[in-house]
Amino acid sequence: ERKAALTASVGPGATSDGHKVPLLANVGGPGDVPAAVEAGAEGVGLFRTEFLFLEDGRRPPSEAEQVEAYRKVLEAFPEGRVVVRVLDAGADKPLDFLTPADEPNPALGARGLRTLLDHPEVLRAQLTALSKAAEGLPVYLEVMAPMVADRADARAFAQACREAGLNGKYGVMVEIPSAALRARSVLQEVEFLSLGTNDLAQYAFAADRQVGAVSRFQDPWQPALLDLVALSAEAAAAEGKSCGVCGEAAADPLLACVLTGLGVTSLSMGAASIPYVRAALAKHTLAQCERAAAAARAADSAGEARRAARAVLSGE
Ligand code: PEP
Ligand code: MG
Repeated sequence: ERKAALTASVGPGATSDGHKVPLLANVGGPGDVPAAVEAGAEGVGLFRTEFLFLEDGRRPPSEAEQVEAYRKVLEAFPEGRVVVRVLDAGADKPLDFLTPADEPNPALGARGLRTLLDHPEVLRAQLTALSKAAEGLPVYLEVMAPMVADRADARAFAQACREAGLNGKYGVMVEIPSAALRARSVLQEVEFLSLGTNDLAQYAFAADRQVGAVSRFQDPWQPALLDLVALSAEAAAAEGKSCGVCGEAAADPLLACVLTGLGVTSLSMGAASIPYVRAALAKHTLAQCERAAAAARAADSAGEARRAARAVLSGE
């Protein structure tokens, strides 16, 4: 019966009253594309490009190798959106040829955009390869930077995109609380935001995402995390720009309704979760999602927030 209900739920993501929330897939490379297409993803919301660089940790892939891999993913979503994240090396994704070996706190050191700004040739080559890969395709290319802390970071990334002649939109991930707190300022430099809730939780709660002993802080239902999501979504709305979520939070059907209620404009997740999220959204109106979001934010713990949202959405 559950399977039948899911099969019946196809088409674009939307609430029961027709508020559209594009459902996008997180992919790690061309191998993940068939499952995304099968699940009815409306595009890719997070293309983690690290896989290409991890194949040979001693050197970056050549431009030709990059163009070929990017093109395979871009071709799979004609007319769709594909959001590509530039290399996020460091901390939980170390790369021999880029990541400093002697940092006491790698998660707080050179990683993500910071690493790319220290190695501008790697960023330039990747942006050029992305532009070439999208040439002649009807796809809507968007490129974003991980680990952006402030407006200066956003400006440096935007400048690199312009210098590389990037043919598409550029945006930044909100993974550091400072970027959420000052989202309007960050948005003066770029065209969209995408919330990486895994890292946002890590940095908001000072809890290493790789340390099991503090794993309770990775729970995306924490009201403080919901507050940071709300701040970012409100800032994007005020600037007339989009704010998606591409962290694990988007894969939880109940939380997807809450994120929608907080003003998030698209949800990106592992392909397997898309049918469940689509079905959950289709059962509730935007106003119900907003009430669930308000109830969750009024809670004092992750557990309470989850129960409060569930009570609102199932009691209606
Ligand atoms: C995140 O941090 O939420 C995210 C989407 O990026 P990653 O998990 O790859 O760091
Ligand atoms: Mg991240």
